[in-house]
Amino acid sequence: MNSRRPDGGCDGNGGSGSGSGNDSGNDSGNGGGDAERRREREYEDVYARLKAYEGRAAAVAGVGKDPVNEPMIRHWCEATGDTNPAYAGPDAVAPPTMLQVWTMGGLSGHGERSGAYDELLGLLDGAGYTAVVATDCEQEYLRPLRPGDRITFDAVIESVSERKTTRLGTGYFVTTRTEVRAGGRLAGTHRFRILKYVPAKQRRKDGEREAGKSRTGHTSHTSHAGRTDCTGRGAAGSGAATRPVRPRPVVNRDNAGFWEGVSRHRLLIQRCTECGTPRFPWLPGCNSCGCPEWDTVETAGEGTVYSYVVMHHPPFPAFDPPYAVGLVELAEGVRIISNVVGVPHDRVRIGMPVRLEFERVDEELELPVFRPVGADGS
Ligand SMILES: [Zn+2]
Repeated sequence: MNSRRPDGGCDGNGGSGSGSGNDSGNDSGNGGGDAERRREREYEDVYARLKAYEGRAAAVAGVGKDPVNEPMIRHWCEATGDTNPAYAGPDAVAPPTMLQVWTMGGLSGHGERSGAYDELLGLLDGAGYTAVVATDCEQEYLRPLRPGDRITFDAVIESVSERKTTRLGTGYFVTTRTEVRAGGRLAGTHRFRILKYVPAKQRRKDGEREAGKSRTGHTSHTSHAGRTDCTGRGAAGSGAATRPVRPRPVVNRDNAGFWEGVSRHRLLIQRCTECGTPRFPWLPGCNSCGCPEWDTVETAGEGTVYSYVVMHHPPFPAFDPPYAVGLVELAEGVRIISNVVGVPHDRVRIGMPVRLEFERVDEELELPVFRPVGADGS
C-alpha cells in the first residue's frame, strides 16, 4: 500500500527555509535585511534541533492490545468491501493492509510512545507549527499475519524534512517507521508521515496584524485545494480572544452552482439529463450512466434523519461539542450531511422528520441545516 494523499503534498515551493514563495509575502515593510537574516538563523536553529531527533525511538517495546483476530478482520473486510476468500475460514490470514491496526492504541493510547517523539512534537508546537495533518503512509509486508498472532512493535523517528511550504501551510514532514513483529519475527514495516505546520490562513492573519491592517481586509479564500482542514488548531499564542471561524467550503467549477443556490436560500440537487438520476453532493458526471450533462432540481426541503453522529471529541475550533451531525435523506432521494439544529444533541433520532433552513454562521458563510419538524413552531 502506498496511499499518498494529495492534500499534504509539497508544492515544491519551499526548500531550505529561504523565505521564498508564500513566506515572503507578508514580510515587506518589516525592517528588510536584518529581520530576514534573523529569521533565517531562527529557521536554521529550529531545523538543527529537529534533525537531532532522527534515529531516536518513537515507540519502544510496543505490544498489540489484542492478538490478530477474526472479528476485527471481518469488520475490516465488511467496511472495505473486500470479499477475498483468503481472509475467512479456518486458514484465514489478515489483510496485509491491516498491519497498522494491530499496533493501534485506541482511545486510551499506548504507554510505549517515547519521550523523544513527544519532545519533537513539543518543539514543533513551541516554534509555532501547531497544526498537524497525516500526509501518507507506506507499508511493506514480509509475511502474512494470522488469527492468534501476538504483535509487538518498535518505532523510530526516521526523518525530519527541511522546512517546506505546502498548500496547507509551511512546516516540517516527520516520518516514523514502525517494525511490526509476530512471535518476534518481522512481519512488516509501516512508514507514517505527518506534516506539522503553521496553517497558511493563520500566517496571513499574523501578517495583517504586523502590518496594522484591520481584519476586514482578510479574504475568505483558503489556500486549501480540495478539502477543509479539520486538524488545524490555530497557532500558539495568537488571537486567543478571536473566535476561530468555521472552515470555509471549497468552491470550485464542479460545485459552484450549489453554493450559488445556497446564497439564494435554494438547496439544489443535480439531476442527470440522460437517465434522470438525482445526485448529491455535486459531481461532474452521473454515477449511474456516466453522462456529464445535468440540470438541477430544488429540494422542497423535507427530509428525515437517515443516520447521525454526536461529535464529542476532538473539539475542532469554532465548534461547540457535543453537537449532532446528521445524514439527512431528502424526499427527492439524495442524502446530505448537515447539522441538526433546534433540538438537544441527545434527542436526535434516526427517522426523525426534519425541514431545511439556512443558518447564517458569520458574515461570509451561510449553510443549509435541518430542524426537526415541530421544533420551534415549524
Ligand atoms: Zn445518468
